[in-house]
Amino acid sequence: MEWGIKLEARSGWGEVETIEVAHFKRRVVGLTAEEIGLSLDEAKQVLAELQRLVLQTQMEEYTYCARVCPACLKVRRQRDCRTRTIQTLFGTVTVDAPRINICPCSNAIGFVDLSFSSLAELLPDRCTPELRRIQAELGARHSFPEAGRLLSRLLPCSPINHATIRNRTHRVAAEMEASSNADPVEPSISSGETVVMIDGAHIRAVPGHQSRHLDVTVGKVEVAGRKPRRFAFAPKGADHPLDNLRTALAAQGWLPGQKVTAISDGEAVLPNLVRAATREPVRHILDWFHLSMRMRPIEQMLLGLSSRDIQVRPLQAAQASIERARQLLWHGRPAQADQELTRFADHSQNIARRSERLSWMSSVI
Ligand SMILES: [Zn+2]
Repeated sequence: MEWGIKLEARSGWGEVETIEVAHFKRRVVGLTAEEIGLSLDEAKQVLAELQRLVLQTQMEEYTYCARVCPACLKVRRQRDCRTRTIQTLFGTVTVDAPRINICPCSNAIGFVDLSFSSLAELLPDRCTPELRRIQAELGARHSFPEAGRLLSRLLPCSPINHATIRNRTHRVAAEMEASSNADPVEPSISSGETVVMIDGAHIRAVPGHQSRHLDVTVGKVEVAGRKPRRFAFAPKGADHPLDNLRTALAAQGWLPGQKVTAISDGEAVLPNLVRAATREPVRHILDWFHLSMRMRPIEQMLLGLSSRDIQVRPLQAAQASIERARQLLWHGRPAQADQELTRFADHSQNIARRSERLSWMSSVI
């Protein structure tokens, strides 16, 4: 049996072009289990080809329309025929990105060399925001090399080195801090309470070691009024890995039976290490960065809606609601956060209803 996948591209001025994306064949007699449906490699090839065709035709129309001068509506001259590569979740695509001469109507000084690239203004870092977000999200949950491996294993995006993922994760984190309405405040911790900030990392093992990477756990023990005490250990491999953590706790004056709070990235194994070291119940708080990263997709969705013609009031109410839910979760009040998220769902339904009415009205008009 054979299948063909075709893409119908319809330009803004009504031209229709049909382009072949992929073609598959499967035998019927002697079919094996491996040949059932699309394989991951085939799916990646289809996605990559589809992305290339969509992006190239989309950018062609975009750069052509960008040549129209917004002031006098004349078509500006194209200065050259350069290209630009764009990294996306579904592959790295090379597209035409010509520079456009500034229109004489807005070039009163009479310079002859003024030009701009509409694509460079649209995507200054040659990467789609979606790829940047997914890389940052995976970079926040896994080691940077592992995040890169996961992405290129499942998607046709080009192999990306871990330094790129690290830099993009840090940049997204800096943007989140800058755009956050409220500064992170200290979670509700009583004075004298022992707080263990704990995180895991992968470091490259020395050549000849049984594995390429080594898992390490690092952190610090804080008690109000005392200088933090840092610790580090390898959970697998050391004879008594938790001794370092117990030593740090004892140095901070912690005694069995006293309350301990662990702040981590949400990995269940990290507070469990603190529980094992103290042999006591441990209160676990997700750290501010990872809490914010988990709320980020909802905030991005709201940002997307805010650029459309949606009534401002329900949108502001939804934004306020999600910010309150974040603060409540940070302060360890899950029941109240749950109520706030129910309110957020109500606001979102109002926005969706309003959006549907708008789409219906625009289709009627
Ligand atoms: Zn003009």
